[in-house]
Amino acid sequence: MSIYQGNAEGFLRYVGPLTRNIVCNLSRSLKKGTSCQGILAAGTRCKKRTRLEAAHIKGQERPVIIATILEQFNVKDDEYKVDLREFETAFRKAHQNLDEVIKVMCKSCHTRYDNEHQITQGYPIVLEDEYGEEELVKLEKQEVKEVEKNINSNQRYKTQVLIKVQSKHPQIHNKNMSYSRISDANGLWNFDVNKKKFEDDFYFVFYDQQTLKTKVAKIPACTLNLVNNSTKVDAVRFYVKWEDGKLMERTIGDLSEFII
Ligand SMILES: [Zn+2]
Repeated sequence: MSIYQGNAEGFLRYVGPLTRNIVCNLSRSLKKGTSCQGILAAGTRCKKRTRLEAAHIKGQERPVIIATILEQFNVKDDEYKVDLREFETAFRKAHQNLDEVIKVMCKSCHTRYDNEHQITQGYPIVLEDEYGEEELVKLEKQEVKEVEKNINSNQRYKTQVLIKVQSKHPQIHNKNMSYSRISDANGLWNFDVNKKKFEDDFYFVFYDQQTLKTKVAKIPACTLNLVNNSTKVDAVRFYVKWEDGKLMERTIGDLSEFII
């Protein structure tokens, strides 16, 4: 089950693009063999064929549909707890009779339609068909697999590294250590550790996936000076890198003396 919890703005930020994607994919079928369904001033069909958009019909605008579904997940004030699968199902259902919800229009007909019906202009859903729907579904599935593969390989490494570390240092267990590989994003080891953990001996496990080497640093109980890190938040973030043969943390400095 995937749950979103937060305000409406945050929900739209993450789920808004998904809803546009769904409308776009559904509307491709409408677009096939048709041209702009806009009606020109003379009363004739526009029939333009390039850069067509999916236009929601008055009363069935995307924000209206989203709001109708979202309000069912309201927990208090501006807070929502949304089962994302349920939301998606309801959103798709609202587009079941697609030709009653969507018209395919060129940009100028869409703008004119929205103006005539006092619809606030929304984020455009452009129906380009350089990729077929099947191809897009395939690419989407591939992307999911790719992410899973990466997660699995990271976890596999982590498990292997920790087994090795614990065979050498049996006093290390899940609760008194933090593991990091070098981040692809910033090239550093990043650790998030609750301050309380430093009341006992604590271990940082550094894994370098390029050289396949592991280092362990032991921070004896109550020795770490967290003055520079004295935020109100319980978790402290550590950024560590190799520099001139030393293990340097951004605010604490050299951790090399702690390596065991
Ligand atoms: Zn048109």
